Amino acid sequence: MVAVSKTYPTETIMEAYHAGQRIFGENRVQELLSKKDNMPNDIQWHLIGHLQSNKVKYIIDFVSLIHSVDSEKLLATINKEAAKANKVVKCLLQMYIADEETKFGLDEKELYDIIEHLNDFPNVQVCGLMGMATHTDDEEKIKSEFIYLNGLYHTVKSKYFAQDSNFKHLSMGMSSDYQLAVECGSNMIRVGSLIFR
Ligand SMILES: *Cc1c(COP(=O)(O)O)cnc(C)c1O
Repeated sequence: MVAVSKTYPTETIMEAYHAGQRIFGENRVQELLSKKDNMPNDIQWHLIGHLQSNKVKYIIDFVSLIHSVDSEKLLATINKEAAKANKVVKCLLQMYIADEETKFGLDEKELYDIIEHLNDFPNVQVCGLMGMATHTDDEEKIKSEFIYLNGLYHTVKSKYFAQDSNFKHLSMGMSSDYQLAVECGSNMIRVGSLIFR
C-alpha cells in the first residue's frame, strides 16, 4: 500500500511512519521535495501524479517508483536523467481507463509503441501498469475499468515480460475504490484521505 500523503503536513505523515508505513506517495514535485528533506531517509517516495518532463531532474536521485509515465517523451526524459545519475529508475506505465478527460494516461497503441521501444531506454525499468477509474458511484463501471486494466496487465506481462520478474505491479485503487480494485486484481493501492483525514 502506498500512503498518499499529498496535502497533509509532515506531523500527520509521521504518525503513519511511526505506525510502520514506509511507502508514501506524492503527486507534486515541489511538495515532495519540501517534505522529503524534513523526513526520515528510509522512506520510499513514489511519484503518483502527472509529471512534467522539466521536473524529472529534481526527483531522479531518490524517487523509488514513478507511477505516472503517460508519454514516451516523459519516459525518454526519465531515461536521460537516470543515465546522468548513473541509475536505473523504476516506473509504471499509466493507462487511460476512465471516462474523464481530466485524467492522464496512455491508450493501447501508445502502450505497445513504448514497450516495443524499451531497448532505447536502458536506464528505465518498467515494473507494471497503473490506472485511475472514473470518479462515480457506479460500481459496475468502476469494476469494468479495473477488469480491463487487469486483463491488459496480464496480457502485457505474459507477452513481453515473461522473463522479467520486475514487471509485477498493478497499481489501481484509491480511498473510494480500493476494495473493488483488489477484487479486480490490484496488487498496489494508493490510499490517501482514508488514512490521513
Ligand atoms: C490523490 C491520489 C490518490 C489518493 O486519493 P485518495 O482519494 O485520497 O485516497 C491516489 N492516486 C493518485 C494518482 C492521486 O493523485
